[in-house]
Parts: sequence; C-alpha cells; structure tokens
Amino acid sequence: MKNIKLSLIAIAVIGLNGCFVEGDDGTNGTNGINGVAGQDGTNGINGVTGQNGTNGQDGSAGNTSLLLQTNLIIGDINCPNSGVRFDSGIDVDTSGTLEPSEITSTNYVCAPGITEVSSTQLLTSLNNQWFIDGAALVSQNKNTWLTATSGAVAQSNSGNSNIEQQVTSYETNSPAQQAALIEQLKGSAKNIILFVGDGMGVSTVTASRILEGQMNGQFGEENSLSFDRFPFAGLAKTYNVDAQTPDSAGTMTAMVSGVKTDVGVIGVDENIERGNCSTVAGNELVTALELAELAGKSTGIISTARITHATPAATYAKSADRNWEDISDMPEAAVTAGCKDIAEQLVNFKANLEMRFEGSNVNGLEVVFGGGRRHFLPRDAAFNSSDAASAVEGDRTDGRDLTAEWSLTYPAGSYIFDQIGFNAIDTETTTHVFGLFNESHMQYEADRANDIAGEPSIAEMTAKAIAILDNNPLGFFLSIESGRIDHSHHAGSAFGALTDTIAFSDAVAMADEMTNDEDTLIIVTADHGHVFTIAGYPKRGNPILGKVVSVGQTEVSLAADGQPYTTLGYTNGRGFQNLGNEVTDADASYSMPIAAGRQDLTDVDTASTGFHQEALVPLSSETHSGEDVGIYAKGPGAFLLNGTNEQNMIYHVMDFASDLSGGVNNTQ
Ligand SMILES: [Zn+2]
Repeated sequence: MKNIKLSLIAIAVIGLNGCFVEGDDGTNGTNGINGVAGQDGTNGINGVTGQNGTNGQDGSAGNTSLLLQTNLIIGDINCPNSGVRFDSGIDVDTSGTLEPSEITSTNYVCAPGITEVSSTQLLTSLNNQWFIDGAALVSQNKNTWLTATSGAVAQSNSGNSNIEQQVTSYETNSPAQQAALIEQLKGSAKNIILFVGDGMGVSTVTASRILEGQMNGQFGEENSLSFDRFPFAGLAKTYNVDAQTPDSAGTMTAMVSGVKTDVGVIGVDENIERGNCSTVAGNELVTALELAELAGKSTGIISTARITHATPAATYAKSADRNWEDISDMPEAAVTAGCKDIAEQLVNFKANLEMRFEGSNVNGLEVVFGGGRRHFLPRDAAFNSSDAASAVEGDRTDGRDLTAEWSLTYPAGSYIFDQIGFNAIDTETTTHVFGLFNESHMQYEADRANDIAGEPSIAEMTAKAIAILDNNPLGFFLSIESGRIDHSHHAGSAFGALTDTIAFSDAVAMADEMTNDEDTLIIVTADHGHVFTIAGYPKRGNPILGKVVSVGQTEVSLAADGQPYTTLGYTNGRGFQNLGNEVTDADASYSMPIAAGRQDLTDVDTASTGFHQEALVPLSSETHSGEDVGIYAKGPGAFLLNGTNEQNMIYHVMDFASDLSGGVNNTQ
C-alpha cells in the first residue's frame, strides 16, 4: 500500500489560507444626490427643476486572491503518477488571471487520476487507502444500520428505552426519510471525548468488572463498569500496517488520524521509515484534535502516563520514533536534520499548527494533564520541583525549560505540578492549564497515596478538564488515556491493571455525568490488549484475584501437578512475585529476577497487592496481544461503531459526528 503521496502540509496550506475565497469587489458608489430645485423666477415663471445628480461610479474592484489548479500528467517531476498543482497568489494587476509574478505559493496533491480537489477534500488524507476506506465505511455502516433496523434510530441516546421509543416513532418513515434522519446527525456532536484504556483488552474489562463488583459485595460477574452500560459497542482490529500485534503509537495514530500506520511512529503514515527524521516531511497526518482546534473548539489531553508517551503524543506530535520524548532521547542525526522532540512539539503546538495551516489562528491546547515532567526540564537540579523523586528531575540536554516557555506563550495560563496546584485551578476563569504531576508516569491508582507532593486521580482530572473545556460555546475535543493499565500488565500485576481500569471506569462515569447525550459523543476503547487470561472453571463469585475453586467445591482445585492455580495469568512476562500487601507499585517486579513458569502457590495470598501472576514464557516484560478490543460508545454518531471495525474507523466516526473538517472550513 505504498501509494502515491499527498503532502498534508501542502494541502493544508491551500485549504486554509483563504485561496478559495475571492476578494470582495468594491461596493458600488452611492447615487449622486438630487439637484436642488431652481428658484421661482421674478416674472412668475417657475424655474426648471434641478436634474438628478449622476450615479456615483462603481468602486474599483478589491484585489482578488486566485487559486489555479493545473492537472499534471504522468511523468511530471513533482507528481510522477500525475496529480494536481496548486498555484495561489493575489491578482495584483486585476487581469483576472494569475501571472507567474503573482504566484506566492505552489503546492501539489499527487494522486493518479485526480483532476480537481475541493477544499474539504484538501483537509483529508485524500489518497491514503486507509483513509478512503474508513470514510467509505462510515457510509456503509449507516446503510447497514438502516437495513438492520429499518432506519429505526437516528439518535443514539444512552438509555435503551429512548431507543425503543424512537424505533416506534420512526418505523413508519420511508427509507429516504430514515436516511435523511441519519444524515442530520452529521455535526450534531458538539463535544467529543475519546477515552483510551491503554492495554485494556476484553479480558481486562471482564476481570475489572468482576473485581469492582466483588469490592462492592457482589458476586461480581453481574456487575457493569460505566462503559459496559453504553448502548453501542463494537470491536476494533488493532494490527499496525507492519505488525500483527500492535503498539500504542501506531494504534492511537489510527484512531485520531483515520489512517493505519507502522508500529512505533507518531502522527505519520506508513511511508515513514521509523527512526529516520528525513522521512517525516510530507508524511504528517492531521488529527481530530487538530481539526477541532482549527474549528475553534477547545481541546484537551489527559494521560496517567507521561504526556509525551505514545498515546497522548499521537494527538499532537509528528515523530519518526515514539521514543523521541525529549532531545536527549534523539539521535544526533535527527536533531541536526531538524526534527523536534515530542515535548517540544507539545509546548509549541499552537505555533506549529498555525505554521502548517497558514492563515489559521488557534489558541492552543486548553488543558494538558499528565506525567513526564522530566522531558520538559533541563538536566539540572536547580530546576527540580518539590515533587522530585530523582536527584535531578530534568532530562533535557539543550538547557531549555519548556514549562517556562509554555508560560511565556500563555501568560494567563497556569503551570502546575502537584495536588495543591491542581485544587487551586478555578475552572471558570482558567483559560489554559498545563499540569505535569510526576517526573515520569503518574502513579498507579493503587499507589497514588504514596506520591511525594500528591496528584489527582484520572476521574478528578477528567472533571476538571471538562469544567474548563465546556466554557467554549463551540464545544471541545478531549482525549483521555489511562496509560498504566498497560504498564501494570507489562509488569505482570493483574491487581494494578484491574484497579487502574476501575479508576478509568470512574473517569468515564464522571464524563458521562457532566455532559449531555444529545451533544456529546463519548467513545471508550483500548489501543490493544495483553496476553492476560481468565482461566479454569472457578465457581460463580470466586475471588477474581484468587485461586480457582471449582463449581460446587469449597477447597481450591488442584492442577495436574498437584498444586493450586490462579484464575488470572499471563502467557509471557516476568512471572511470579509474592511481594505482599505492602507493595502497591506494580513496577517493583522489575528489580526482581524473572521467575517464569509454574510456582507452588499453596501458601501464597494471590489476592495481595504485591502478587504477580505466573507467566509461561520468560520475557523481560509481558507483551501486548493481537486480538480485537472493544469500542463502547454513546451520543450522536455512536451507532456507527457497531460490528468489527478497522481501528482507524474511530476517527471517521468522530469526524462525521462532529463534522470536524466541515467545521474547519466554516471558521476559516
Ligand atoms: Zn504497552
């Protein structure tokens, strides 16, 4: 699928710099005023009435900006497989044509067979097959839904009773009326909230819902996490273009850009060569967050991981490698070639976006909450915060303090790094807030009370963010990642992964409570799963973190080796640890030797916070899995996320529901 490139930067420049709007003609001159009537003559003869004044002349035409599209034939030096060249500039001599001397910029959309491109199309990854297929699938899903339901539902509200009512009220409509009802939904989501549970595969959702239920005194299986109660759900195929089992960089890029790409790269398409800075230019993708920003909506990103980590980074950065979190992580060649680290791209998001979309004027990310302070501070103890865990917090080798640079860009904004600062944020008066609550990732929820200067929960961050973002009448786009479900699985701790998933579910519930189903699309999904299983035949209500007790039994069941075994386990990873209830940091296993394979669990409390499940294959870190993940949705457009979808479909549903690209065109 190495198809012909379309330069998104180039088309973006054209799409937004006003070239599609011709300069206004000058207004007509006002009519001359009527002449004054002649005075009566002395001999009683009436004087002649004064003549009307002559009309004023038309104003001279205002200068007109022109855009010239020229078809390029096969073999063209700029578009070897043909395409369209765009010349734009001001028609200074008002000749009506754009002379070579009047051309101020030239750009290309290279794609075989195209002869004309509209401004809406210019904003998209026009000739990327993933993008084309994703957009087509939105239409197809609408038709599938119409066929399956007789067009019964045009709104995808939260309560099933609502849906049933609408089934009744719409079932007499003609197919055309039904289709029109669905088409009306386009753009009806004023707000979009995309929740990503990093590594939250289906087995993690199931086990977490059971644990939450058991913590509330139930058997557990019958419990529902907040998003289990959403009216629409589907599946996402998570593979990357070059990987059967994906990573967060490729998957999140697919979700927020509408284009599947390679493993390990951020905000760029598959024509990138990972780690090669020179291949970034021309392969940058446009994200839903960027479109929302350009459309005048408020924007926010939240992660419990470092805010420069793959998932949040894919919303705002373009990088040949997910690991380029700060300049000290980059190869010299990449720095020399002009590539910027991810932290730098976050702080300069506003300026970078305005540069890419010439003529745009955006106000930047209103809310940024996460960890990863080290990537924004110089490697100098003088810059340590009172929350510092290391002797030197900062990692940057270029001496730059990006938190100070952010404050210069947003003089009225607030940079915060601890719970006190977070609590002090007034959501009605705050325009921009930048919260970096940890040197590296934020704490696991189970370990949060041990943070040095304190940090908010993911639900608290969600509530604060929405309260700030919803001050904008045009709405908002908010991306929220629970980044550490994934990390706890990598470390082999089901306890950590499940308790972080429950905290994530609480954040979803908070967002749902603070918004309206009529104007807010909430999507909850995962980027990928983990090799995490719920095994054996434990009886109903058996402690999910415990050992298997079979149906009808009261004693633990023994495996063929005569020893008990746990319900939860991993196919690979660091394996068994028995660290007791004092340890709430799943990463503690990294300082212990790998202990894969079968262990005697007879005298082990497997429900303790520091227990790590057995793993079959020894690896330094447990791995992702390649199976599908769930997509749970409610609000306008949510009905489109049924069935089994390519992961990049999520972008296209968001774009449809909020009409993001249309919104950009309308406001520029
Ligand atoms: Zn991972």
